[in-house]
Formats: sequence, C-alpha cells, structure tokens
Amino acid sequence: MWRKENGHICDAKTQLLRMRVLRVALDVPVAKLFEYLIDDAAAVAPGDRVAVPFGARARAGVVVEIAGASSVAQAKLKRVERVLEGAPRLPADWLEQMRFLSSYYQRPFGETVAGALPARLRSLKPLPKRRKTVPEDLTNSASTLVSEHAPNAAQACAIERIGAALGGFLPFLLHGITGSGKTEVYLRVIARVLAQGMQALVLVPEIGLTPQLEARFRGAFPHTRIAVLHSALEDSARTHAWLDAARGEAVIILGTRLAVLTPLPRLGIVVVDEEHDASFKQQEGLRYSGRDAAVLRAKLVGCPVVLGSATPSLETWFNGREGRYELLTLPERAVPGAKLPTVSTVDLRSQSAEHGLANPLLDSIRTRLARGEQSLVFINRRGYAPVLSCEACGWAAGCKRCSARLVLHTSDQSLRCHHCGARQAVLRECPTCGNVDLRPLGRGTQRVEETLAVLFPAARILRIDRDTTRRRAALARTLDAIGRGEGDILVGTQLLAKGHDFPNLTLVCVLNADSALLSTDYRSAERLFATLAQVGGRSGRREQPGEVLVQTRFPGHPMYRALIGHDYAGFAAAQLAEREGAGFPPFVHEAALRAEAPRLAAAMAFLRAAAQLMDVPASVQIYDPVPHVITRRAGFERAQLVLQSHSRPVLQEFLRLWSAALPASTSSGVRWHLDVDPIEFD
Ligand code: ADP
Ligand code: ZN
Ligand code: ZN
Repeated sequence: MWRKENGHICDAKTQLLRMRVLRVALDVPVAKLFEYLIDDAAAVAPGDRVAVPFGARARAGVVVEIAGASSVAQAKLKRVERVLEGAPRLPADWLEQMRFLSSYYQRPFGETVAGALPARLRSLKPLPKRRKTVPEDLTNSASTLVSEHAPNAAQACAIERIGAALGGFLPFLLHGITGSGKTEVYLRVIARVLAQGMQALVLVPEIGLTPQLEARFRGAFPHTRIAVLHSALEDSARTHAWLDAARGEAVIILGTRLAVLTPLPRLGIVVVDEEHDASFKQQEGLRYSGRDAAVLRAKLVGCPVVLGSATPSLETWFNGREGRYELLTLPERAVPGAKLPTVSTVDLRSQSAEHGLANPLLDSIRTRLARGEQSLVFINRRGYAPVLSCEACGWAAGCKRCSARLVLHTSDQSLRCHHCGARQAVLRECPTCGNVDLRPLGRGTQRVEETLAVLFPAARILRIDRDTTRRRAALARTLDAIGRGEGDILVGTQLLAKGHDFPNLTLVCVLNADSALLSTDYRSAERLFATLAQVGGRSGRREQPGEVLVQTRFPGHPMYRALIGHDYAGFAAAQLAEREGAGFPPFVHEAALRAEAPRLAAAMAFLRAAAQLMDVPASVQIYDPVPHVITRRAGFERAQLVLQSHSRPVLQEFLRLWSAALPASTSSGVRWHLDVDPIEFD
C-alpha cells in the first residue's frame, strides 16, 4: 500500500518535471503575466500564440517566457488548451519592443501586445487561408528600382551615407526642403536593402492623405511585394498585410504609425517620412510615438533609421544638433529650375478684407486664372462659419456636451460640434431673445468657396476637406484630378497641405493662420511653421515660380519672418532657446496625468489627491492641476497635471509606482490615463 502510493507520487513528480510553466500575456488591464502549464514544452516557444482558459472562457494569449517552476503551487495552475497555428512565431526583438513600450508608456504588457496585433490574431478564430500564390514576377528581382532620375549631388551623398550604415543601428535626420527629393532618397536606399534580401519599413503620417506616395512606391518597385498597413483597412485586409509582412513575404511595409508594431523577420531599414507630423503620436490606449518607436525598433534590430522632414520636430532637430542623429541635408529643389516659393505677408491692419480675402490675394488669384495656373486657398477650418450668433443679445450656438461653439454647415443646414460630433438642425431664431436675424461669424472652407464662386464665376472651384472627401478613394481621385490640372482654385484644409505634388499650382493663399499664434500651447508656433512651410511647398514645384501670401495682423512676428526667409534652422534655434529658458521639452522630459469625470470638481480633486499620494523624488516636479481649455467634451469635464524631470529613468520609475498606486478608473466616477511625452494640451 505504502509502496504503491509512493510510486504514484513518483509518477506525478516526473510528470510535473516534464511539465513546464508558460508565462502568457493576455489582453487584460493587469500589469502581470499569467501562468499556465503545458505538457510538452518542446511544442512551444516564446512568441507563440496559445489558447488558455481564463475565467469562464478561453482566450488567446502570447507566450512570453517558459519557466521551470511557478511562483504559485503548480497544482493550482491550469493547462494551456492548445497552441494556435498559422501565424509565424513573434520574434524576440518584437517581444522586446513590446516590453519597452509597455514600461515606457505605462501600459500593461498584455494590453500592449494585444493592441499591436490585428483583431484576428487576438482571437481564437483560425487565421484566413493564405492568399493565392503571388505571380512569379512579384517575388523575384525584388530590388529592381524604376526611377527616371539620376540623383543630384546632395541626394547621392545622403544615399551613400545611409547605404554605408546598413547592417547596424544609426539614426539619420534627412532635412530636405519641400520638393528636394527626399522620397527619391528613400527609394534608392530601399533598393539597396532589398538587394541584400532584407525588408524595409516606411512610416507615413496618414496614408489616406498620401495616395500618391503609395502609387510612387508601387511604380518604383513594380516587381516587389508591398504590404500597406493602416487603421482604415478592413480586418481581413489588415490581417493579410500583417501576415505577409510577418512571414517575410512582403519586403516593403508602407504604413501609418501602427505599422511599426509589425513583426518583421529581416528588417533592414526604417524610414519615417514627415517625422514631425503629430499623427505619429497615438492619442488613446498605448499612447506611443510611432516615430520614437521606429528609432527604438531600429536599435533593437540593428539597422539604420531615417527621419525625413522639411521642418523636423524640435526634439529631432535637437538630437541632430547634439550629434545623436546624423544630419543629412537636401538644400535645394530636385527638379532642375524649380525654386522655393517667395513668401510674403499681407498686413490685415492696413488692407481691408471684406470677403475674407484681402485685395492682394484676390489680384494674385486673378493673375493665375488668366495664366491658366492653379491657386490654393488654405484655411484650416471646415464648415461655413465657426460661430452662429445673435447680434441683439450676444447669444452664440454652443454644444450641450462640450465647452465649444457649434459650427454652421450650410450643405445640410446643420450646426455641428467638431469635438464630439453632435449635430442639430440650424436654429431659425435666437433661443434667448427670439431675434430671427442670426448671423454667421468668421469663415470656414464652405464660406470661402461661396465667396470665391461669386467673385470668380467662371473659375472651376474645388473644395477639399473632410466634409467633401469622407472616403479615401474619393480623396485620391480628387488629388489625382488636381494633379492633372483640374480645378482653377482649390479651397482646402490640412488635407491639401501634405506631400502632394501638383505641377500646375503656383499660388498659395493662407487665411486665418494667426489664430494658432494665440494658442497657449508652447508647440503651436512650431506646428504652424511646419504647416505653412508644408502648404507653401505645394506651389512652384516645376519651372514656374511659386508664391505664398499669408494674411496676418502680426506681419512682424518672428515665425512669419522665418517663414519668409525659408529659415527653418534660425526658427528652430530661436524656439529651442525659448524652450530651454522656459524649461520645456526637449530640455526636460514630460508626462501628463489626465482625468475626466461628469463634474470638473471631481477630476480636479482626483488630480490633487494624486499629487499628494506618495513621496515624489526631488528631480521630479509635479505642477498644479488645470482644467483643459475645452474643459467639457462629450459630456465629461477634463483636467490634467504635468510632471517634469531632467531624468528620464527617475520619471519612468516614479510613473510606474505612481500609476500602480492610483485608484482604478471607473466609468461612473473618475477616468484617468497617463500620457508620456504628451504633445497636445487642448
Ligand atoms: P520631397 O519628398 O522631398 O518633397 P520628392 O522626392 O517628392 O521630394 O521630389 C520632388 C520632385 O522632384 C518629384 O517630382 C521628383 O520626381 C523630382 N525629383 C526627385 N529627385 C530628382 C532628381 N534627382 N532629378 C530630377 N527630379 C527629381
Ligand atoms: Zn438673441
Ligand atoms: Zn460637442
């Protein structure tokens, strides 16, 4: 009896010995890994996806570690149900990237991993069948580059330097004015990477805005498999593109910030185009910077990373100045004979602008019409008018759920909130005094379009904003048409500013830029400079010279002076000096704790208590909480407090302890999140 029992114990023991403990990342808001047993440890490795029991049901998780023993009694552990097949094992550098992002941005590891995977890979569903095999000519001769241009001297130098760095980590800042041929540099460097059998990852701000870029890549590499990844893709398209990239079958991966989270078995170069663009920062969930994640990825893999821009972010420019990034410069436009546009200001204090556009702007548009050239009128505000108000009593239409005015849209006679999306029929009379003469104040794209149609009845006017081009395909068609010379006057927002190449466009008029200068955000001048340089850069891209006219009440403002002189470096130096004096990034590291609640008092009280919650290291400074400028949004009232430190590690460690100690967010009470390296403080 004794013997038998002993024998039984021995059996169980040896079985336990063969059994291994898997530490698994699951999509739950808890900062830990979950342990499971597996009978046959040889069948699994870190990076595999597994189905595991969790609560009442099974879930998909990612194996992160395999341990010999558990911290809890093994008898309490459940078994892995099965290893999920079909996707390649997630590589070690990818897991390392997730680990870093999770700790840097203070988000539980499991949620970080889950957020990086397409929905299908987070589920237990079988993966879609492999797509039909690709035609022969798409897999062979991958590196053949089709290009009409021989690189100029500056391009050749940049290509040489980056090419020489292949095979090791080295960050480059490619500072090239608009139209200087940065894309051409990327293409040639990528051709070299492909020739070595490696993959290239190219990040762009918003692919919907740059359909021309995708077309250019496809045109340059007609025999190469390109995976395009962005958040507007349908689930299945995203899954296929992700799998193509992760299997190493697609060799160029072109996408928005989320593409930086794709596992790539043979990554040879990372390119971040328009690296200054704010859309690289994710504003929910894992609040990561796609640009910073790109540099990290290149470091983990050991390959060069190229950050390209005409107006680099001050953080990146500073890294260049300090010698951490190698600076490559393209100082001239690539098309022979093409010059940067002349930029001038039009002083609104001495010029009347009864139609919203001062006479010099109207005259210049008239000249372009006579010459058969295109003009672009840029105003970064869609809708008809930003305010509908009653002159009798001063009432103005406001959103019930936000502390913001409603914008008048005349296409459907609605009042819309641009912050929460609320929409209502336009009012016929003032709700406070009954006055029926409600007036639109200010101007948006619709009103400018209307004005121009009256002033230039024979001109073909095209308006491009999110209201006219909700769909990517529609936008792509319109941009193509403009590129072919359709449309005499284009009226548009930011959507028209980015990266497009319109050969026949020679005039850019900028309305209402001043509003950005009055913002309290210390980044607003930097952003405005980038936007105006970018939109101005749409003009004069061929032989005919371009002209940019900016209406302003502050013609002497240093930002406008720098813009007129095409002096990014001078502007950046002045901004950096200001930031240093005032103690702003990149001279300190920042994080923000944001809270929202039905009542502002609750959000403020939460933040005040948070600031008192624990001892703060001497090198970390916590500022007083302040309400957001737009305090109320979608029914919630919001406040934030900023933390600063000269030491990133000290700040990181404090944030880790702090966020663990803060009470959990609740949907009825206070919801909060941390934003590390925040870039927006609305
Ligand atoms: P960026 O990306 O810097 O704005 P692009 O790469 O789009 O500039 O180039 C701007 C224009 O110059 C494009 O029409 C491109 O075809 C052309 N181009 C680029 N490199 C050369 C070159 N070496 N010679 C002539 N044209 C060029
Ligand atoms: Zn009134
Ligand atoms: Zn609203």
